[in-house]
Amino acid sequence: MPVLSEDSGLHETLALLTSQLSPDSSHREEVGFLRDVFSERSLSYLMKIHEMLRCYEQQSPSPVLHSAVALAEDVVEELQAASAQAHSDERELLQLLATPHLRAMLMVHDTVAQKSFDPVLPPLPDNIDEDFEEESVKIVRLVKSKEPLGATIRRDEHTGAVVVARIMRGGAADRSGLVHVGDELREVNGVAVLHKRPDEISQILAQAQGSITLKIIPATQEGDRFKESKVFMRALFHYDPREDRAIPCQEAGLPFQRGQVLEVVSQDDPTWWQATRVGDTNLRAGLIPSKQFQERRLSHRRAAGTLPSPPSLRKPPYDHPCDSETCDHDGHLKGHYVAGLRRSFRLGCRERPAGLQDGKAPAGCEALELPTYEEVARYQPQPGERPRLAVLIGSLGARLQELKQKVVAENPQHFSVAVPHTTRPRRGQEKEGVEYHFVSRQAFEADLQHNRFLEHGEYKDHLYGTSLGAVRAVVAKNKVCVVDVEPEALKQLRTSEFRPYVIFVKPVVQEKRKTPPLSPAWEDTSGPLGLNSGPCTCEADGAPQS
Ligand code: 5GP
Repeated sequence: MPVLSEDSGLHETLALLTSQLSPDSSHREEVGFLRDVFSERSLSYLMKIHEMLRCYEQQSPSPVLHSAVALAEDVVEELQAASAQAHSDERELLQLLATPHLRAMLMVHDTVAQKSFDPVLPPLPDNIDEDFEEESVKIVRLVKSKEPLGATIRRDEHTGAVVVARIMRGGAADRSGLVHVGDELREVNGVAVLHKRPDEISQILAQAQGSITLKIIPATQEGDRFKESKVFMRALFHYDPREDRAIPCQEAGLPFQRGQVLEVVSQDDPTWWQATRVGDTNLRAGLIPSKQFQERRLSHRRAAGTLPSPPSLRKPPYDHPCDSETCDHDGHLKGHYVAGLRRSFRLGCRERPAGLQDGKAPAGCEALELPTYEEVARYQPQPGERPRLAVLIGSLGARLQELKQKVVAENPQHFSVAVPHTTRPRRGQEKEGVEYHFVSRQAFEADLQHNRFLEHGEYKDHLYGTSLGAVRAVVAKNKVCVVDVEPEALKQLRTSEFRPYVIFVKPVVQEKRKTPPLSPAWEDTSGPLGLNSGPCTCEADGAPQS
């Protein structure tokens, strides 16, 4: 068996360890996991960096100069003075020294060289154990800027203690790793908080700037280890925490607009998720109502007949105050905490309307779907991937059928439509699989039951519909399948398989004219797909799809 010497680096140690991992039947999974971890490229890079830093440390390097920024400024000045007859090298150096990255790097160099690491925390008080002889006390010293601590507190109703209720992901408390849910807060900057009201504590915390010292009795269980959650949700409603009487801490709420994409970083609390807005520079998470909770609220509002009316008109039970949490922001809050609500509201998707009607009907029956969030993922096109679907949505006036036919006729190599199914008998020249797939009513209804239709309708006692299979058949030929559906059917299509490119086709309202227009009826409004629409305009939605 190979032996490691004292000088063996971390790299060799782990390489040796990996070679020694013999999969024993009882620990096969763990061994496999370790092997994967050790053979990861990023770990190997990290180890190389670690070893190089160690070598470098042994050389005990010391800075050659302490103010590289000043030196660079002098050089720039001289180069500028001689810029008229400067060589190309000098001009390049001048440009380089002006780049923000290089300037920032030189600033960092000087900070390290001058060892000016701010802020310096004062030493811990010596008498800390005298007050809390019995309990294990943790003194936490944090540097607090203007940003809030990113924690909420509540009073334990049995013991009266002030405990940390929630840690906001990415906030100061979270980043410190020193404050946890369930920790009991005893003092803030030497001020005992036991007999203070939550809003008073909140004020002390909010006003504290710079170094802040917390005396904490650590929670017996570490309950706030964030479970890794990286889910992206598009909001289907507008949210303002200041108008939400149910939120446990209004100041910790995250306002968002309908259509915004949110990154849900914690779903530990089934009622209040923590999220950030995608593209936001603020990385501290805020509270948003969970999908389940929002669905419940909406379904209660719908039942109470208050749905689109403002929530203040009639309060459903889920808007009533409950338990409160306070956070370190200015102002008192009348929040309440509605925990433990379980998802029970679901529309029975298999229930279909009794009779099929003329025209298109969505295959699913999500007509009463509550607009909360829809899960999305960033769309990253892969080379050689199957074409996306082109979905046309529009009112009757948008003449989608004509538009579809025109698109296909113009470029049949690239675009195609799905062959519909029908229960009507085949006519003279018609061929199976060309005009229609001719099927029995029984077969059609069986497929309907299995949600195999994207849309369907009834016309003169015969069923017609577009099946998902027919759409797949077009995509399999490497063509863009152009479909027109009711908006409700979009749900079925917004999958990673179809990645639909949704185009809303709006009829152009023509002004009544006495003389006919000189131009042809078709107005060219080529979109990104090269769709030439009829008397309509298109708005495309190519945003991330689930
Ligand atoms: P025909 O039987 O004359 O071929 O078509 C009669 C009607 O069936 C058409 O005018 C059209 O409205 C409807 N139809 C044809 N294909 C489909 C389809 O895929 N879905 C729905 N909902 N209706 C269709």
